[in-house]
Amino acid sequence: MKSGCVSKEVKKSRSIKLPVLPNSPIQQSEIRDSKTSRWRAAALVALNLLMIAHIVQWRLMGTTVSPIEPSESMYTLQRGAVNAGFIFFGLAILATLIVGRFVCGWGCHILALQDFCAWLLKKLGLRPKAFRSRLLVFVPLIAALYMFVWPTALRFFSGPKDQPIIPEFTNHLVTTNFWETFPSIAVAIPFLFICGFITVYFLGSKGFCTYACPYGGFFSLADRVSPGKIRVTDACNQCGHCTATCTSNVLVHAEVKQFGMVVDPGCMKCMDCISVCPNDALYFGFGMPTLAAPKPKAIKKSYSLTWPEEIVGAIVFLGSFLAVRGVYALVPFLMALGVASVTTFLAVKTMRLLSTSTSTFYNSDLKSSGRMSRAGWLFVTFALLWIGLTAHAGWVRYHEFAGERAYEKVQIPDELALARINPGRWLSPLDREQVATGKKHFGTAADFGFFANSEALPKLAWFEYLSGDAEKSVQLLNTAATHQHGQARALSLYYRGAILNRLGRYEQARASLDEALAERDDLILAREERGEALWQLGRKQEAVAAWSDAVQRNEGLVIANNQLAGAAASLGKTEIATAYERQADQFTPPDPLFHWMVGLRLQNLGMNALAEKHFQQAIQLDPGFQTYQR
Ligand code: SF4
Ligand code: SF4
Ligand code: SF4
Repeated sequence: MKSGCVSKEVKKSRSIKLPVLPNSPIQQSEIRDSKTSRWRAAALVALNLLMIAHIVQWRLMGTTVSPIEPSESMYTLQRGAVNAGFIFFGLAILATLIVGRFVCGWGCHILALQDFCAWLLKKLGLRPKAFRSRLLVFVPLIAALYMFVWPTALRFFSGPKDQPIIPEFTNHLVTTNFWETFPSIAVAIPFLFICGFITVYFLGSKGFCTYACPYGGFFSLADRVSPGKIRVTDACNQCGHCTATCTSNVLVHAEVKQFGMVVDPGCMKCMDCISVCPNDALYFGFGMPTLAAPKPKAIKKSYSLTWPEEIVGAIVFLGSFLAVRGVYALVPFLMALGVASVTTFLAVKTMRLLSTSTSTFYNSDLKSSGRMSRAGWLFVTFALLWIGLTAHAGWVRYHEFAGERAYEKVQIPDELALARINPGRWLSPLDREQVATGKKHFGTAADFGFFANSEALPKLAWFEYLSGDAEKSVQLLNTAATHQHGQARALSLYYRGAILNRLGRYEQARASLDEALAERDDLILAREERGEALWQLGRKQEAVAAWSDAVQRNEGLVIANNQLAGAAASLGKTEIATAYERQADQFTPPDPLFHWMVGLRLQNLGMNALAEKHFQQAIQLDPGFQTYQR
């Protein structure tokens, strides 16, 4: 790959060639150390310590300020939940509009990680070289629009007519569930490793910022209008120390010569260039913003890719992003962008390596005079492994996606399907088709994937149940629950309990439903099912208490009201039974399927008189039900 116009090599002494001024007498001179880099390192360390303190405080006290993380703004825009992340992101953009990207340079934990990685590599004698693409630099802005603007636009164009574009704001500044919107630690560690280290190693010191970070997309825009800039005096002699020092790949010497200031929106105001300038020619000051600057001759930048490679790179980026995003329900959006940018680099570099006679990477010759070196083979092996894993992830993702689509198309209501084991007879031809398709795709993803998908497993379990294999469904829900937490786990345990009830394994059902309720106390349907398990176990008082509890939380629960009516009738309490029956009837829709389902549920419990009432109502509404087996 072509090099930029900054330094070609850095020796351990930090003596550096500066091809920006090839005939300069200071070509080999030492660049002085940046004094501000230590202050910046201290600020970034303090930031990380504050983040740790925030988590510790939450763990100790159980409640804290919601995450101060820009991604949280999505919940404000989508649901109106005003949180600390939204306020922070708003203030950060406002500050950038005035002073430029100081927040990036001095207040970002991902940048701290990237700087740490670059520092480690420097200790190993390696200086990350910037990967320069003309097209991929648009990724951060596109990602930002997708994250923050697209959901609002979608609501505007295709949301329900009565839904306001700006949702009603609610206060979410304090939370008890701090980690709710973050990935698990098992995902966070690879995320930080890929976005903080791998991107730096392959794409340069600010690899993630340049090609993946959506927040950077907005910060770049804001920086263009900010009056706060790195500016130059007449003392500049174009030595190029500033450019050689800048880890954001800004051509500082050229920009200050042309514009009198740094106009590149990638400048993160780290102030290193100011600190290392031997003539003290640079300073931070206010004046004309980039957008209003006169446009002299454009600065010629060198890029790592030819135009055909740019196009191939863009296709690879999109393909690998779609391949890994959400795969196994593990890879979050930002991580997928980081992975895609690395895949693009590896694919293009490998293509170039195989098709040219000479290629280098860091201090190693990968190929010279047409002969591949050991380092070259190592690089190709790593690249093919990475690309192969990405392709495999894409194949798994395809099956997960096809399974999800089939799941969404299934129409049979859960309550009806759960009324009695083997719900096959209730399935429409379309439902049968979707169940077969979904089972095939989710099954392939589960059999050949490297990790369990905690979101796909319950759906596969549902397909198994609908197709008549309740035992397998229970096993899958069990596995799903071990990979889930919060509401998702509670739901898996609820469905597991409900199916175990239908299988007649009431003690196991009760245990599963107790676990579901321990996870989510407000899961009323689990109370209804728990009552059913207890009734079948002969613990009738407890069953009535469970159903009463459910009805107290939601008086419109048709099944629980009917169950309470049946229980009261079986104890000879006619008046109470009539009251519950009346309450149930008040909320029962005039739907024959619904009546039939209620009848089956009551019949399961031996409440036959009440069950018969509902069977008759179903037949009255649709005489076709006469032929249905009870
Ligand atoms: S671009 Fe993103 S990752 Fe980079 S410093 Fe700014 S906020 Fe942090
Ligand atoms: S600004 Fe300073 S470091 Fe940069 S080229 Fe001019 S004199 Fe050299
Ligand atoms: S131009 Fe200067 S202030 Fe901006 S990122 Fe580069 S070294 Fe830092």
